[in-house]
Amino acid sequence: MVLASPLEILRWAALFALALLAWTALAYGIHRLAHHNVSWNRLALAHRAHHHPAYLLRPRPLRWHHLLFWFDTPAETLDVWFTLTLPALLVAALFPAQGPVLLGCHYLYEVLLSDGRFDHNPAIDGPITRVLACGSYHLEHHRNPARHYGLILTLWDHVFGSAGFGPGPGFPIPPRQPLDGTEASA
Ligand SMILES: [Zn+2]
Ligand SMILES: [Zn+2]
Repeated sequence: MVLASPLEILRWAALFALALLAWTALAYGIHRLAHHNVSWNRLALAHRAHHHPAYLLRPRPLRWHHLLFWFDTPAETLDVWFTLTLPALLVAALFPAQGPVLLGCHYLYEVLLSDGRFDHNPAIDGPITRVLACGSYHLEHHRNPARHYGLILTLWDHVFGSAGFGPGPGFPIPPRQPLDGTEASA
């Protein structure tokens, strides 16, 4: 077995950081597009369930089918696949050496850290939420869907001007009709 040199490790890490940036940039763009609530937008259709008020209230324990990357409803599953999994597969194809680790991180994050455990946990606040789009940072997106489209990283919100509070540059109208037909609010 040949051990990697420090230079090779550094190169791998730099390319992994680049892959992470590419993945989160694509996820940011797709998430922002999913808020463009027009009839042709299938991304919006899948994303509606995420903004239904019941999404944050429903207990979401880890279930066996989450391990198979199938979440609680078809819409929630497609939302994750469209917004995060497809870009992760694309980036993994472009960065074959880093791809398996990136996909592994995506899998573990969605199965173990999404929902109330981390992503939507109001107790997670402070400096971590300046870098990672979790806890109070992501919950602000549920209060004000014109802000905080960043997933995993907050970076792209800062780059594209959707970080912060108040009226944002994004589409202010949340998806109107959740898939069960009841009226949703932001
Ligand atoms: Zn959203
Ligand atoms: Zn959310």
